[in-house]
Order: sequence, then structure tokens, then C-alpha cells
Amino acid sequence: MKIPEPIRGFVDTLSQLPGIGPRQAIRIAFHLAGRSPDTAFSLARAAERLGELKTCPRCFYIHESDASLCEICSSPIRNTQIIAVVEKETDVLSMENTGKFDGTYLVLGNIKKTGGLSETQKARLESLKKRIMAMEGEMIRELILALSPTTFGDMASRMVEQELSPYATKMTKLGRGIPTGGEIEFADPETLGEAIRRRD
Ligand SMILES: [Zn+2]
Repeated sequence: MKIPEPIRGFVDTLSQLPGIGPRQAIRIAFHLAGRSPDTAFSLARAAERLGELKTCPRCFYIHESDASLCEICSSPIRNTQIIAVVEKETDVLSMENTGKFDGTYLVLGNIKKTGGLSETQKARLESLKKRIMAMEGEMIRELILALSPTTFGDMASRMVEQELSPYATKMTKLGRGIPTGGEIEFADPETLGEAIRRRD
């Protein structure tokens, strides 16, 4: 059976997204193809609007505010002496949902499955170092390694620790509670809140 070219093109694009395999992509493609063009247009428009969002130059979280810094980095009540290094934007959301963290963040970017840090991740760490060097005392009070306790998360965590330990008085990790191999993204707010509270 011949698959129409637009379906194949859509599937190729969609299956590059996290969590979507070719089978799911092809189902979505046929679903959209069989509906009125309005559904496909509104999806395209919604995706286009994502491209209009900005990246905070300090923590690298994605935001839509008119200011250059995100809401968290520009807030006067957040503790800039405590920085949590997380992998993804969704981890920032998970940490914020606990209501147990008043520090700031560094979004490292997706952890590679090959070990090692990507160029983007290295650049983000460098920008954090510069930011800390520009602060009084040239050290922050606490740096929390809040990467998921997976094999590659742990590897990345060790590399980040090596890079950043001269810049923080104390380096901590999230406490127990998040199962080994589990992702922060999928931890419930109570468990994650407890892991933040019991960090050491
Ligand atoms: Zn920010």
C-alpha cells in the first residue's frame, strides 16, 4: 500500500519529537488527514507560536515575557544564592509545582545518551560560571544537582559537579524518594518536594 508523500513527511518530522514513535506519528497523520483542514491549520499555528517564545539568557528556561529574563530570574524574592541544575524545562515546572523551592535554576538541556556534555551544555555551564564570578564573593551558597537519577543523568551530574564545584560553597543532590532510573518529570509533587527538602 502506498503511503501518500505528505503523510510520510509529517511522520518523519513528528517522530523526531520526544515520546512519539513512528506508529503514533502515522496515526496522528491519518487522523489529521481525514479531518477538516481547520484542525491541521490550528495545529500548525499552535506549533508556529512555540517558535516565537524566548529563552532566558540566565537560566535558559523558555518564556513569553517581554523582558529578556524569565519570571523566576527577574523575581526579587527568589534566592540567587541557591541554583538548581536541571535537565529540562519540564523539570523546572515539576520543581515549581512542589512549592518547596525558592532558589533559581540552570536548564542544562537534554542529557546525551553517549555520556559527555554537548557544546550547548558546556556553553550554559560557562555562562553560569561567569554569572557567579560577577557576584560578590565569586561563589554561591549552594548548587543543587537536580538531574534525574538515571545512568546518563548520574554521569552528567558528575561532570557538572567537576565543572562547578569551585563556584559553590556547598554542592547537594536531591534526597531519596525519586526511584533510581526514574525521571524528575514523572515524580509526584509530594515526592519531589520531599526530595528537595531532604537534599544533601
Ligand atoms: Zn531565567
